[in-house]
Amino acid sequence: MNTSASIAHPDQDDVALADIVDRLVAADEAIAEIEADKIVQLAAALRIAKKRAATQSVETRMRELEERSIASEIGTALRVHDRAIQNRMHAALELVEGYPATLDALAESRISARHAMVIVEEGRDLTAPDTRALYERTVLERAYLVTAPATRTFAMQVAQELHPRSITERHATAVQKRRVWVQDLGDGMAELGIIASAVLVHGTMDRLTQCANQIKAVAVEEPADVEVDEDDAVYDQRNIDQIRADLATDILLTGGPSVDPTTGAITGALGGLAAIHARASIVIPALTAAGLADRGASVDGAIPVDADTARCLLAGAPSWERILTHPIHGHVLATDTYRRPANLDRYLAARDIHCRFPGCRRPARQCDRDHNQDWALGGTTEACNLACLCKRHHTLKTEKPWKPVQLRDGSIRWTSPLGRVSTDPPERYVIFRDEPDPPPGDPPF
Ligand SMILES: [Zn+2]
Repeated sequence: MNTSASIAHPDQDDVALADIVDRLVAADEAIAEIEADKIVQLAAALRIAKKRAATQSVETRMRELEERSIASEIGTALRVHDRAIQNRMHAALELVEGYPATLDALAESRISARHAMVIVEEGRDLTAPDTRALYERTVLERAYLVTAPATRTFAMQVAQELHPRSITERHATAVQKRRVWVQDLGDGMAELGIIASAVLVHGTMDRLTQCANQIKAVAVEEPADVEVDEDDAVYDQRNIDQIRADLATDILLTGGPSVDPTTGAITGALGGLAAIHARASIVIPALTAAGLADRGASVDGAIPVDADTARCLLAGAPSWERILTHPIHGHVLATDTYRRPANLDRYLAARDIHCRFPGCRRPARQCDRDHNQDWALGGTTEACNLACLCKRHHTLKTEKPWKPVQLRDGSIRWTSPLGRVSTDPPERYVIFRDEPDPPPGDPPF
């Protein structure tokens, strides 16, 4: 570990700071030791899951369910999504079985848990034990000295050097992991990410840039009766980044793919896929909808959006589902429009917003409607006995002894196979201020 050189005439602050640094180092060392223990426990849990699964069933799906059930048991106890726990269990077992020197270094506080995970992640393709041991030794030496990100850069280089397969072979595997995701950023903004072949992604960016440059170069026409000099020509005031972002969303929301199997051929014209409209539930408090207030609108009841965007969608976008909420208690007043009565399914989606397994945030429109008490066992098809569950958790509930009970306030009390109880509270459209009386009309429920 580092030792500090003493300075000639330390003042009071120097002494205090030296003490702060020492304490932080000690805290990090203690954390590293605890992290090592957590990793050992998570690996042990996965070993139990694998052992049980091997004795119970040959079916891959059933084996995975055993893992999921144990991950859910740990996840509900720690208030962490079970999928995250499942991933951690796998990474932990990988570390325990494949990188013993790294685990020791963590337990001895010589590296942090982040360093350890970097070593596991970057070494994933090195399956031959000798090669992996050489990789581990080389990278560990570096990890003792530098930050986790710097360790990653170095580990990537070492892994490339030792890699048993060519870039062509590796690309064939890597391209299987192409995907698109969304991350919310707050202030009514979100980020769309795409992982695809480098060629396609750079091509996409180039097209957006070329189009954006063209737009910048074209002067906006002034009304015919106004004389404008070339010097006064109005060019688009947006910067290149803003235009690229506007173009990308516009093209994705309104364009059609060039390959469209729903039309049975590759054609220049837009096929059936182009006719599919974007879907999202816009939750709008009644007063905001009426233009009397400016807050509380959201996508899927969870992601805040600005009032102008929400009102614009309410007025003119028929394929976006609209949900109006009571301005004071926040309960659902109506779904879709003022006039059309909401059906049970839409009501459930509006009430639950997401899957009702503890910790899961999968949007309700991607969920099944599950009878808390089985229909076959006398459970009714009413809101008080129905809840949104995603495929993953619906299967878990069906196949494993996870028992939900819906309480009067809409909470769902889950009892795990080990008998641990966790309660998923009902979602509520958050309201912090009193508002004037809501518009007349009874709530439909
Ligand atoms: Zn779920």
